[in-house]
Amino acid sequence: MPLPQGQWPTLEPGWVWLCGAGPGDPGLLTLHALNALRQADVVIYDALVQEAILDWAPQAEHIYAGKRGGKPSAKQRDISLRLVDLARAGKRVLRLKGGDPFVFGRGGEEAQTLVQHNVPIRIIPGISAGIGGLAYAGIPVTHRDVNQSVTFVTGHDQSGNATESLDWSAISKGSQVIVIYMGMKHIAHITAQLMEAGRPASEPVAIVTTATTKDQQVLETTLGTCVADIAAAGAEPPAIICVGRAVAMRQVLDWQGQIAGEKPRNLDPLGRGRPAESA
Ligand code: SAH
Repeated sequence: MPLPQGQWPTLEPGWVWLCGAGPGDPGLLTLHALNALRQADVVIYDALVQEAILDWAPQAEHIYAGKRGGKPSAKQRDISLRLVDLARAGKRVLRLKGGDPFVFGRGGEEAQTLVQHNVPIRIIPGISAGIGGLAYAGIPVTHRDVNQSVTFVTGHDQSGNATESLDWSAISKGSQVIVIYMGMKHIAHITAQLMEAGRPASEPVAIVTTATTKDQQVLETTLGTCVADIAAAGAEPPAIICVGRAVAMRQVLDWQGQIAGEKPRNLDPLGRGRPAESA
């Protein structure tokens, strides 16, 4: 598959390109990512990067640097220093991360280490799971009738604990739609905090697991019933959790269900009573 005509940057020996691979579906890669895959000598990739994407760099050595999936986990500092070593050895290095490298992906830390070691870098953004993964579930992260802001939060802090440092009460009051990464482990704590801060138990929640892949599953639930429903469904990470009325839009926008032949459940889930584009 040739790249469209144009000026595509050259991945030079000794450089590291930090690149987002998108949430899963290889079609969600950027053209810059494809250009990078074509040129790399080494691809260092994370757990959430799909095999099919690596297949586009058959000439490159593939090094797994993930932190999940039963394989031995690599320490963050070791990964960053490995990138430095490979660059210094004159390799064309592609650091491939799930979603967007600068969204809860430690891409900022890796890039900083590289610059501190005088290794030249390029950053290639990717589609983050909290936006693209929800779009594949038919959930728009903003909608004029629902929210004027959206908050992206992580359910883990650096120690892997529930994010004690987050002010859940402020988030709950300040943001109609909350998108949670890495939230499954502490979902009971998070939902309890949100309800304590005044969000109703009936508020819609969607859990989108392995979003944009062929295994994508969407669990529609509520703040009050979410913990029990996750257990009953056996839903497992990686998952994006979306809290807010935006989830109701799935009733009309579940485009994957519609491709599979389902009818929209409700053409007007927000109860506007008029065509969406009037007013
Ligand atoms: N940089 C990534 C996020 C890395 S943190 C991005 O921008 O998307 C890892 C978390 O991202 C997972 O625990 C999960 O919450 C979310 N995630 C990444 N890929 C996902 C996918 N395909 N489906 C659901 N959640 C995903």
